[in-house]
Amino acid sequence: MATEAWEALLARLDDAASLIGLDPDIHADLRVPNRILEVAIPVRMDDGHLEVFTGWRVQHSTARGPGKGGIRFHPQVDVDEIKALAADMTFKTAIANLPFGGAKGGVRCDPTKMSIGELERVTRRYTVEIAPIIGPDLDVPAPDVNTDGRVMAWMMDTLEMIQGRHAVPGAVTGKPLSVGGTTGHAGATSTGVVVCTRAAFSEMEVDIVGKRAVIQGFGKVGGPLAFLLKSAGMRVVAVADVGGAIYNPGGLDVAALSEHVTATGSVAGFPIADQINAAEIFSVPTDLLVPAALGGVIDATVAEKIDASLIVEAANGPTMPDADPVLERRKIEVVPDILANSGGVTASYFEWAQSRQGYLWDGEMFANRLRDGMDNAFRSVWGKSQALKVPMRRAAFALALERVAEAIAARGFFP
Ligand code: NAD
Repeated sequence: MATEAWEALLARLDDAASLIGLDPDIHADLRVPNRILEVAIPVRMDDGHLEVFTGWRVQHSTARGPGKGGIRFHPQVDVDEIKALAADMTFKTAIANLPFGGAKGGVRCDPTKMSIGELERVTRRYTVEIAPIIGPDLDVPAPDVNTDGRVMAWMMDTLEMIQGRHAVPGAVTGKPLSVGGTTGHAGATSTGVVVCTRAAFSEMEVDIVGKRAVIQGFGKVGGPLAFLLKSAGMRVVAVADVGGAIYNPGGLDVAALSEHVTATGSVAGFPIADQINAAEIFSVPTDLLVPAALGGVIDATVAEKIDASLIVEAANGPTMPDADPVLERRKIEVVPDILANSGGVTASYFEWAQSRQGYLWDGEMFANRLRDGMDNAFRSVWGKSQALKVPMRRAAFALALERVAEAIAARGFFP
C-alpha cells in the first residue's frame, strides 16, 4: 500500500515533468528524497519491558526552504508512505508559495494502546534521535495522524533541553497557545477549503447561495467546514462519519448536528434527517462534495456514481488514480488535495513566522493573509489548468514542479 503511494507520487511527478518539459537532471533529482533518516526508539514501557520502535524523518526537497511536514504515529506506517507524504509536502508548500520544502516523519507505534507516559517517552526519544536534522532553519515538524499540540510541545521542550536553550518555538508548529501557538491554526484547513469552493464556483459561474453540499467526515476539518459552508449560504444536505451517515434534502441544522455529535460521538441517529448507508454518501445528489475523512475513498466505481458538479478534496489522497479519468470524462471539477487543504500548512507558516519574529499577529491579519494566500493559490492553479487544458490536479503538480525546479536551477548542483 505504502509502496503504491510512493509509486503513485512518482507517476504524478513524471506526468507533471512531461507537461512542463522539465530538465532531466532536475527530474532525476526530485525522484529521490534529499534525506531519509531511520532511527531506533528504545522505550521503557509501563510494565517494565523495553520496546524498540522504528521512526523516520524524510526530507524530500529543501530547495525552497526548510523541510515542512507532519509527524504521524501509526502501527502501519513505513518509509515509502513517509516518502510519498514528504514529496506531497514539497508540492503543497510550492503551490501555497511558502518558503518551505517538503518533509514528513513517522513512528511505527499504536498510540491507542499506549499510556500518556509511554506516548511522551516515545515522542521525546524520537525527537532526540532526529534532532540533528530538525530546527527552525532545517526542518519544521507539525501534527499529523495521532499527534497533536501536546506532542508538539514535548518535541519543542526536548529540543530546548538537549540544546540548553529556553526558546526554540520556530522548531515546530501546531503548538498549544501557551507555548507560542496561534488561535488561527485550528480551522485554517476548513477556511482554505471554503475559499477554494467559492473560487471554483465563481469560475464555473455558479452562485454558491442555496447550493447543496455533502461532507464525508465531521472531525477537525469536516466539523468547522459544515458551519462555514452554511455561513456561505449553502445547504449542507448530507454528512457521514465513522458511525454512519445522515441526509436531509432541505438542509441539516448544523448547530444542532454539532451538539448531537458532541453528545453521542457520531452524526448517526441525528433525529431531523434520514439515516442512510455510509457508502451512499457518494451518490447523494449535490452541487459540492467534500471528502474530509480518509484517503482512497473515491475509486473508478465510486466516481461513476458521484452526482456532484464540484469535488473539493479536504482529505489527503481521497481520490485513487483510476478515478481521475472517470471524473474528467463526467466533467466533474476537482480541486485537488495539495491545493484544497493547504490552508493548514499556510497557517503553520504564519505560526513559524510569528515564532521566529517573536511578534504575535492579530487575528484579523492572520485571517486576511490566509484568505488572500488561498485565493492566490487557487487562481494560479486554475490559470495553469486553463493554459495547459488539463484538470486542476495535473495543473497543480505542474505549477508546483515549475516553482521547485526554478529554485533547484537557481541553486545549481553542489559541488
Ligand atoms: P479527524 O480525525 O478529526 O476527523 C476524521 C473524520 O472522519 C471523523 O469525523 C471520522 O468519524 C470520519 N471517518 C473516519 N472513518 C470514516 C469512514 N470509514 N467513513 C466516514 N467517515 C469516517 O481528522 P481531520 O483532522 O478532520 O482530517 C480529515 C482529513 O483531512 C484527513 O485526510 C487529513 O489528512 C486531512 N487534513 C487535515 C488537516 C487538518 O488541519 N486537520 C490538514 C490537511 C489535511
